[in-house]
Amino acid sequence: MSKIVFFNIPAHGHTNPTIEVVRELVDRGNEVLYYSFNEFKDKIEGAGAKCICCDEYLPKLRPSDEKKIGKDFSALIEMVADTTLALDEKVCRELKGFNPDCIVSDSLSFWGKLFAKKLNIPYVCSTTTFAFNEHTAKLMKKGLKEFIVMILGMNHINKKIKLLQNRGYDVKNIISMIANDNDTNTIVYTSKKFQPLVETFSDKYSFIGPSVSKVIVESKKINRKLIYISLGTVNNKNIKFYKNCINAFEKCDVDVVMSVGNGTNIQDLGYIPNNFKVKNSVKQIIVLQKTDVFISHCGMNSANESLYYGVPMVLFPQHSEQKMVAERVAYLGAGVMLKRNKSQYIKDAVMQVINNNEYKRNANKIASSFQNSEGPKGGADAILKVIYESRQN
Ligand code: UDP
Repeated sequence: MSKIVFFNIPAHGHTNPTIEVVRELVDRGNEVLYYSFNEFKDKIEGAGAKCICCDEYLPKLRPSDEKKIGKDFSALIEMVADTTLALDEKVCRELKGFNPDCIVSDSLSFWGKLFAKKLNIPYVCSTTTFAFNEHTAKLMKKGLKEFIVMILGMNHINKKIKLLQNRGYDVKNIISMIANDNDTNTIVYTSKKFQPLVETFSDKYSFIGPSVSKVIVESKKINRKLIYISLGTVNNKNIKFYKNCINAFEKCDVDVVMSVGNGTNIQDLGYIPNNFKVKNSVKQIIVLQKTDVFISHCGMNSANESLYYGVPMVLFPQHSEQKMVAERVAYLGAGVMLKRNKSQYIKDAVMQVINNNEYKRNANKIASSFQNSEGPKGGADAILKVIYESRQN
């Protein structure tokens, strides 16, 4: 039996894929501690791990900060550095008591990696986005606005890095914090086919495929095409876009399900045509199984889920990470990029996907690569292999 500690950021998209890996480890008789937050406790403990909630150690976010997360990379790094510093004493003390064989930490939960290094514990990176190295970094073209915000934030970041160094953390610069090299054991929740520049990653990277819950949908839909629209759970307050979607399809012979997010007031959208179902949140996995085209912001989970079910996409990324996902989907021919947030463009892009079966065929090819991946069993194998090898040394 081995003792494994997970660390994650407070985000469902980063937590969900790890849950089945945790369950697999626990089922094989291992003990798992998971540092996370109240909102995620039930699902973590449901998989058999003990959850340690760290809510009180998170920096207090103002509403303006919340908007920045996901868009402003320097704000994210600053938040991570603050969290590491706040958790430092508690976690280091607890880890010395628990004495884990391995730390598995999300690629954005840098504090897990920093604790592992400081305490000399074997480390595995868990990546719910694409695997990232100096080659893929070049694909992540930042918009001018994102770039300026990042440069302005550098001063803050450098101060935080100094603070981390003063507490004994081995952080040379921002790159050494975020990038992993080919010696870092890494679990990636996508397939080799979907990962861009996969040939630049060593065999320490395990591409185990997305963790998509298998929910059986009773009856397939009948004759009209179904379009599903969502901008995810974070940056989703875009009334103009939702209204443009309504204009695009209100007179079309299609059905539309539109998930507008919990923070959007549906009344602000005005008139809702009969062929539209507008909700604050839907069971996306279920809706996707009946969907013909998904108009998406291209969060990694949404793209994974869409392609897992062979649903081609209209791609409407909101920032550079989502742009990289969108470009990969477009490159593999499973979707088209939305050129502008205008009704006519939205309608044309959807019709292009519906009228050309090639998009569906290419989405199905990615679906096969996902379904043939090793899944959570492969994730557990990768972690246990690291532990086994560390014991041999
Ligand atoms: N989701 C859902 N219902 C909705 C909208 C989103 O269940 O109405 C889920 C979706 O299935 C996915 C996650 O929320 O698993 C969104 O993650 P993603 O990485 O796509 O985007 P984010 O919300 O992190 O921007």
